[in-house]
Amino acid sequence: MRFYVPTDIYVEKDCVKRHAKELLAVGRRALIVTGHSSAKANGSLNDVTEVLKAGEIPFQVFNEVEENPSTDTVRKATQAAREFKADYVIGIGGGSAIDAAKAVALLLVNPDVDADDLHKMPGHPLDHAPVVAVPTTCGTGSEATPVSIITNHKINLKKSIPHVIFPALALVDGKYLASAKKQLIVNTAVDALAHMVESILNVKSNLFNRMCPEYGLRLWGECKGALLSEKAVDENLYEKLMFTSTIAGMSIAQTSTAVPHGMSYDLTLHQGVPHGPAVGYFLAAYVEVCAKFVPGDVEKILSLLGLQNISEFAAMIRNLIGTCTTTREKREQFAKAMKVNRSKLDLVPGNISAEDIDYIYEKSLIVG
Ligand code: NAP
Ligand code: FE
Repeated sequence: MRFYVPTDIYVEKDCVKRHAKELLAVGRRALIVTGHSSAKANGSLNDVTEVLKAGEIPFQVFNEVEENPSTDTVRKATQAAREFKADYVIGIGGGSAIDAAKAVALLLVNPDVDADDLHKMPGHPLDHAPVVAVPTTCGTGSEATPVSIITNHKINLKKSIPHVIFPALALVDGKYLASAKKQLIVNTAVDALAHMVESILNVKSNLFNRMCPEYGLRLWGECKGALLSEKAVDENLYEKLMFTSTIAGMSIAQTSTAVPHGMSYDLTLHQGVPHGPAVGYFLAAYVEVCAKFVPGDVEKILSLLGLQNISEFAAMIRNLIGTCTTTREKREQFAKAMKVNRSKLDLVPGNISAEDIDYIYEKSLIVG
């Protein structure tokens, strides 16, 4: 059994300022990669640039990362990094900005690889420039995973790239959630929930790596009342939500995500559904199918969350993210693609059948 997360992770208030020394030690010239506006609005960009200025580290900001970052955006950011002669990349934002930063860090030191080739399996492991991750959503845990999920619109593909890119440093501060709308917090928290559930209901789950999702699910259970309530999330919970998301990232760093994530990518690509809900819609039916194979694990997940049964779990997710409608044609097309997605199906802790996959789609997506 092995547990591997080589990232230096700090979780605390004013983390960026408190760990200025660590942030400055990562490189000599930084490209900061962010989304369009949130990093500016929530103070995270300012916290980082103040530290860089005080430490006399030259930096440039690339703030054009869209949700579900594309190969074209990654190419453009890499060009900016090269022109600026950056030697490290700081991703500030949700999973989109951090994943884009990872892909830029890889391309930066591999000039022969084009952004459109990022999904191709390399002949040998590729190096990457160091990455610093400053998350501002409580969902992807990308600050603690080796994964970068990039979309190539030319071939209609949203998928993780086959490269291992752990950030060198992660600075996790819940205060950046203060600017987030309630539904963004809920959506991303559902992603973190899915990471932990898919990490346990997974052939790679073992006694050692379960320490992360089992502890994280307990913490998530402590936040669920606030997530379900009509009221804004109390700021006292920000750190717990962020921390849980990082732990959920450490969970999938060991096992990778499973079927619900595999199913989500088409829903995002073809219907524009945000990542958290796109995964969440499939979660309860996946749990139901896995209950046939590993009933004890499903019991454990429910009890850590403080839930009685799978119906309560399904109702909780419905209350958080509602339901999803699609066409019959799309649902059939998505199911057909999933039935040959061995990289996800092989992670199911049991013999999942074509009927099980159809069942998950029928249960999860309403035809309308
Ligand atoms: P996101 O796509 O990074 O961000 C969603 C939206 O939230 C953006 O409009 C962003 O605005 C805004 N935002 C971010 N932080 C905010 C804050 N503190 N306050 C207000 N608004 C804020 O969302 P995400 O769910 O975190 O990331 C999703 C991506 O991560 C997907 O591509 C998914 O596939 C991937 N993912 C990666 C991993 C991994 O291990 N690498 C795991 C799961 C998912 P701006 O554009 O202005 O920044
Ligand atoms: Fe996810």
